[in-house]
Amino acid sequence: MAEEAEKEISTFEDFKLNKQLLNAIAEAGYEKPTPIQLQAIPLISAGHDILGIAQTGTGKTAAFLLPLLMKVKYAQGDNPRAIIIAPTRELVMQIEENITLLAKYTDIRHLAIYGGLGPKTQIEAVNKGIDILVATPKRLMELYLKGDLILKDLKTLILDEADKMMDMGFMPQIRRLLEVIPRKRQNLLFSATMPDKVVELSEEFLEFPTRVEITPQATPVETVSQVLYQVPNLRTKIELLEHLIQDADTLNRVIIFTRSKKNAESVSKFLEHRNYGEVRAIHGNKGQNTRINSMEAFKGGEIRFLVATDVAARGIDVTMVSHVINFDVPLIYEDYVHRIGRTGRAEQAGAAITFATEAEMYHVQKVEKIIRMKIPQEPMPETVKVFKTPFEEQQEMAREIDRQKRRDDPDFKGAFHEKKGRHKSNFDKGKKKGDPKNSFWQKTKKKGSRKK
Ligand code: AMP
Repeated sequence: MAEEAEKEISTFEDFKLNKQLLNAIAEAGYEKPTPIQLQAIPLISAGHDILGIAQTGTGKTAAFLLPLLMKVKYAQGDNPRAIIIAPTRELVMQIEENITLLAKYTDIRHLAIYGGLGPKTQIEAVNKGIDILVATPKRLMELYLKGDLILKDLKTLILDEADKMMDMGFMPQIRRLLEVIPRKRQNLLFSATMPDKVVELSEEFLEFPTRVEITPQATPVETVSQVLYQVPNLRTKIELLEHLIQDADTLNRVIIFTRSKKNAESVSKFLEHRNYGEVRAIHGNKGQNTRINSMEAFKGGEIRFLVATDVAARGIDVTMVSHVINFDVPLIYEDYVHRIGRTGRAEQAGAAITFATEAEMYHVQKVEKIIRMKIPQEPMPETVKVFKTPFEEQQEMAREIDRQKRRDDPDFKGAFHEKKGRHKSNFDKGKKKGDPKNSFWQKTKKKGSRKK
């Protein structure tokens, strides 16, 4: 038993999740648990109350959903056995989408209820029998007070984004709910920050909670200089990459991070074809041995470029990296800190260069919140050819921007047409400011040559 407990958990299999969940996780493309998942899943599975301090983007939703789905297991009875409460309709919908994704091979019945439309359809759905309910506080109480929700079988209650819930004045609804639900239950509370109101709520709501915290890591190490380029599309990202790597003396050992295996493949193929030096790609589709060999060769200095996805690169210790290039902005925002932490080690001057499309600028802002600083922007170098964004890519980005806006403002209706003008102006603005003499480039170059 003791041996078992000491065994380090590093994969989803280690959580002893059932096959249905593991299959869904694999299909969702999650290769390894995120830090909050590593910490929280074993504790939640063991039945503890949890106070989780984590921001969106850390994988916190799956951290509470996976053990919940294990516990609920299958459809049973008519009344909800678990309720997840979130402050906005958009967040409720998002959580429910996550359940749909992860519970797809189970028969668990789940439903999202929220205001903004009549309750009739939602009541009908509740009456059909439900296992997990995701709700905004007001609509939940409304259905309860009408007698349409029976809460006597509730075993788990989860409050997500508790700080936002307090800001929006939902405390009375939450208190009222706590009075009417069974006392013997598991409680989980997640919040990005811990203002007094949330501390107070957690004291009322949780019993002997275990605190799980993903602290935004300290500001990136001082030896790393950071720069951000706004790049309109994938094709132009490749073009910018090619421009930057011309300086082979300065960029002599580079890790290029991409968001997906597909992009990792495209970038490494491109570099290989152009013969800019040895390239290896590491991502989930590469066998463990291949990855290890690539890493060793990179460490040994035989390889100039390592193209990697975050998951593949996690836990791998590589030092002496001259540059980290974020070809895509990471969606798990903490990964930005992990990525750039690989450069600038051991007193070496390091540099982290990030490429972001207009759609990715949303994630840049979230990253900046975590690192508590603005990443300095540079205009695109004049000589880089800027390609027009293909129609499909443009549509995909416009859709993503709409999704982001809706995330922050559930009443946002969508505005594809806004996109073009704004994009162009941002881009042009950057271009005019360009002063090659004082560019980031020169700065890192100097640092490189000052070394020894
Ligand atoms: P959240 O913090 O829950 O909003 O999650 C942020 C994003 O990370 C979502 O798009 C999730 O689908 C994704 N995600 C969650 N867990 C993992 C994982 N283990 N590996 C990769 N992506 C994940």
